Amino acid sequence: MTIRLGIHPSVGRIFPPSLLQSMLSDAEATVDLTNERLDASESFNGLVTFGYDPSFLDAGLDWIHVVRAGYDEFPLDTLRDHEITLSNSTGIHGDAVSEAVVGYLLQFARGLHRYRLHEPDHEWNPPAWDDTFTLDGESVCVVGLGTLGRGIARRADALGMSVSGVRRTPTPVDHVETRYGPQELLDAVSDVRFVVVAVPLTDRTEEMVGAEALSAMRDDAYLVNVARGPVVDQSALVDALRSASIAGAALDVFEEEPLPPESPLWEMEHVVITPHAAAATEDYPNRIAALVRENSRRLAAGESLANRVV
Ligand code: NAD
Repeated sequence: MTIRLGIHPSVGRIFPPSLLQSMLSDAEATVDLTNERLDASESFNGLVTFGYDPSFLDAGLDWIHVVRAGYDEFPLDTLRDHEITLSNSTGIHGDAVSEAVVGYLLQFARGLHRYRLHEPDHEWNPPAWDDTFTLDGESVCVVGLGTLGRGIARRADALGMSVSGVRRTPTPVDHVETRYGPQELLDAVSDVRFVVVAVPLTDRTEEMVGAEALSAMRDDAYLVNVARGPVVDQSALVDALRSASIAGAALDVFEEEPLPPESPLWEMEHVVITPHAAAATEDYPNRIAALVRENSRRLAAGESLANRVV
């Protein structure tokens, strides 16, 4: 099978589509940039994309590759009906996102986020004796133990933290001392200093961290969300932060992105906001190119695709 691969302009939300095109010059495919809307007359049978457009359905595609791990905006049943295979980019974000999570944890423990606030006023602002702590000896619960969760658990363990996790199956995971099932979430989050959310957005995980889970957390605990915004009930989170029923939050993802300027989260001292940037790394295009190159080869050879979702 000859592969004619298109690169959709939405890829440009992460890196230049033309960069990926040149990196794929050795792939078993001809590679061209596409328009926003696809047209069947262009005869692409594969597409690399960040976002979804309904024109993908009737363009004669056999395969769509999403350049990120989350694929919650893609209509899986409809793709199945149109016999379009979907693959995603899970497996390549572990290092970047886990290092970002270590950064969030260290900021809160060592109070680093606060000093930055005083720099514009050239203000020397030492911490109170009880404002800071060390990660060594602290505890973290990682909700979701896939690529991200395992990378976070490994790093937290290396920092001397006690690591627990929430996962659907009870099998052991390296670097995780205690495991809970999703029904035990409230127990899992109730006695840890940090809760890190790393599950995909699905019907079951939407608002998984809501008012109940937030109120089960300790008042000196921090929430970190690197998954998807709707996994956390954002208005319940704002309430929990306002009432100081938790100590703070680091958020890379939001119910609405970009986070609107009027969101109260922007004003909160103990909230660290990053613009869906935890996975960003200069090596990202290389990692995507390797996945696409391998799946182009497999498609041409009639083999089943890696990271297949549908
Ligand atoms: P993954 O598929 O490797 O792992 C997801 C894990 O969550 C799996 O182990 C799965 O069994 C588990 N899970 C699913 N439902 C669960 C539930 N109800 N309770 C407990 N565990 C559950 O995916 P990943 O690469 O680790 O990424 C996870 C999610 O993080 C992605 O779907 C994406 O939405 C998000 N993500 C965000 C960024 C970012 O830039 N912030 C980057 C990569 C991924």
